[in-house]
Amino acid sequence: MSAIITLDNVYRVYRMGNEKIMAVNGISLEINEGEICCLQGPSGSGKSTLLHLMAGLEKPTKGSITIGKTRIDLLSENQLALFRQKHVGFIFQNYYLIPTLTALENVALPLTFCGVPRKKRLKRAKELLESVGLKDRMRHKPSEMSGGQQQRVSIARAFANNPKVIFADEPTGNLDTTTTYEMMNLMTEMAKTWNQTMVIVTHDLEITTYASRIIKIRDGKIEKIENGRDLNDEKIDA
Ligand code: ADP
Repeated sequence: MSAIITLDNVYRVYRMGNEKIMAVNGISLEINEGEICCLQGPSGSGKSTLLHLMAGLEKPTKGSITIGKTRIDLLSENQLALFRQKHVGFIFQNYYLIPTLTALENVALPLTFCGVPRKKRLKRAKELLESVGLKDRMRHKPSEMSGGQQQRVSIARAFANNPKVIFADEPTGNLDTTTTYEMMNLMTEMAKTWNQTMVIVTHDLEITTYASRIIKIRDGKIEKIENGRDLNDEKIDA
């Protein structure tokens, strides 16, 4: 199995006045293609910072981060933005859908930035919304959908440009247990179909049952790594 994400001695230091906060304090880690990795740890341990560094949303103070063959820590802000648009998908706790756009338009949006023609964008968005079970909600705006439905739209959006890696920050934090299992089955099935890798920050024990590895973070460092499910295991009943 080959590594899709490699972190080598990565640091992220924040300065608050005279204080130095070592949010990520010398992490080296390899995540393999097709893995579902969970990042766990107490509040303030550095999970979100680590996720943002891996996703190219923030730059490390020191150390190298490679996704595929690209050293993302060496990219300019513009290059990083392009890289994210092409190769990375995001799912957030609060969905971050655009309220004035329909489900269809929200899912098609990332493809606009990638220069996909309108007809093709809408076709892809339709297919994705069908695959997340929202065939009859395409013209609905976020406020006209339940939390679970909104998260389905944001999952469809994350997969729109067929990214190599999907990063999720507490993706089921606002959902009930049954919906959490439904979402996780959906995401892991989609990721398995396209051989995508997922990195998920979560407190949810339900989610960690899907993980191939659980990476425990404490004080900006890896405390330990636990092995989870085999990647070929059957899906879990919701
Ligand atoms: P977690 O996701 O595990 O709750 P974070 O990665 O958000 O942890 O934060 C790790 C540490 O870095 C915390 O002490 C937090 O206060 C600090 N931190 C995070 N972001 C910033 C920032 N933009 N400026 C200053 N300190 C920050």
